[in-house]
Amino acid sequence: MPPSLPALDRAHHLHPFTDFKALGEEGSRVITHAEGVYIHDAEGHRLLDGMAGLWCVNLGYGRRELVDAAAEQMLQLPYYNTFFKTTHPPAVGLAEKLCRLAPAHMNHVFFTGSGSEANDTVLRMVRRYWALRGKPWKQWVIGRENGYHGSTLAGMSLGGMALMHEQGGPGVPCITHVRQPYWFGEGRDQSPEAFGHACAAAIEERILALGEENVAAFIAEPVQGAGGAIMPPASYWPAVKAVLARYDILLVVDEVICGFGRLGEWFGSVLYDLAPDLMPIAKGLSSGYLPIGGVLVGDRVADTLIEEGGEFFHGFTYSGHPVCAAVALRNLEIMEEEGVVERVRDDLGPYLARRWSELADHPLVGEARSLGLMGALELVDPTTGGRFDRALAVGTLCRDISFACGLVMRSVGDTMIISPPLVITHEQIDELVSLAREALDETARRLSGDFAYTLYPQERYE
Ligand SMILES: *Cc1c(COP(=O)(O)O)cnc(C)c1O
Repeated sequence: MPPSLPALDRAHHLHPFTDFKALGEEGSRVITHAEGVYIHDAEGHRLLDGMAGLWCVNLGYGRRELVDAAAEQMLQLPYYNTFFKTTHPPAVGLAEKLCRLAPAHMNHVFFTGSGSEANDTVLRMVRRYWALRGKPWKQWVIGRENGYHGSTLAGMSLGGMALMHEQGGPGVPCITHVRQPYWFGEGRDQSPEAFGHACAAAIEERILALGEENVAAFIAEPVQGAGGAIMPPASYWPAVKAVLARYDILLVVDEVICGFGRLGEWFGSVLYDLAPDLMPIAKGLSSGYLPIGGVLVGDRVADTLIEEGGEFFHGFTYSGHPVCAAVALRNLEIMEEEGVVERVRDDLGPYLARRWSELADHPLVGEARSLGLMGALELVDPTTGGRFDRALAVGTLCRDISFACGLVMRSVGDTMIISPPLVITHEQIDELVSLAREALDETARRLSGDFAYTLYPQERYE
């Protein structure tokens, strides 16, 4: 018999964000096909994809229009670059569409292949901008602990993921991190309102400690995604805006997850009225059908780069790749035609909020929160109301049980998160919530030594 796919996978494939050895022992699940909000594995299981792949398959799986857009573009012009005074229709069309959807002061876009490359581009642009403005010493970028901005060296450095920094060695210099506005995790001794103000004040303190003349930019996600679907207290963003307005500092809003309807607006920056100078984008830009990212550039930075910059020595072979751009453009057209963003804002988001919040009555759940089509459950020990011992890895247990129940729900520590496709129906939201409850019930049973499910791919928790 030829070796199985899991065996070949184990033999040759190093997976991202994976303990290679542990995966080798446990084996990976082979996903073979998908439609709508459901994925299927090689053993015949169907799972509701509560994560839209990795926060990206916003229009759901199996969209013929996106497949056709790719096929037509591949025949027409599968590749050409945009380096040497050349361009092509898909890149132009997508640039125009993006600038029309973005806040009014953002009229230019630089294309990349991913969100990480978008954040590398951000760093290059921020430095270039201040150099052109005659302040080359203005180099410090303030990010946030537990923020995520990608996995290249610059993305990792801008992000505040402690485990990545521990493994990464020295990152890019002149990047520092301040506390995150994670009320459930770090602020419950204060009101959310007071905690939001305290987190904004921490930014100002850092600016003053570094010297305001030396601070180039502040970077943040509107709502932290990979950090655990962390919606900041209502007081946070207005207070941050007030701080940044007092000093001459660029605002970079990482829209890689929040952009394209996730929160019920085209961008998180619109929801929170942020008026950013730079907005990295990726993921939902193409509904994940092909890799593409970019940086939307506000007029203040664009005017300087264009008028005073000369040649900007930066770009990627696949910047504005015609096939990726054609698919992204079609993706955005479909979102407009079907009113996807408005439906998330007016219908699906409020419906998910109502159904998801019902899970707060579960003994394992300390908080159930959602915004648009992003949600989180904070798991707590029912006997104490506090966090579980980290070593118990209860979040990982709950995630594996959730998969066994037929729901893709992800864990970040003991926070369970969802981010389903934006085309999910009410009935499918009902199914998602009842599967999540089933997973919570089984997690609670196992924690008390009892169990009803066999976990995939093999039982690991006796
Ligand atoms: C996923 C993500 C990135 C990195 O995007 P890649 O395409 O994986 O490089 C950057 N920022 C945020 C907020 C993300 O969620």
